[in-house]
Amino acid sequence: MAILIVYVGVFLAIILLAILFYTLAVQSRKNYTCPACGERIQMEHLEASHCNMCGAPLDRAYTD
Ligand SMILES: [Zn+2]
Repeated sequence: MAILIVYVGVFLAIILLAILFYTLAVQSRKNYTCPACGERIQMEHLEASHCNMCGAPLDRAYTD
């Protein structure tokens, strides 16, 4: 019966790690709004420097 408790503990630890990584991934996402054409650009990890639609340079302001 004790081995079952260990399995449940490992399972819960994996779920917690998955939630942690998901939260970090969401927080590193940034949504930019192009000042020229209003297109919303979502970047993960990398920062957007130019609009994908019209090529206008983007400022660093973003909204979550
Ligand atoms: Zn644009």
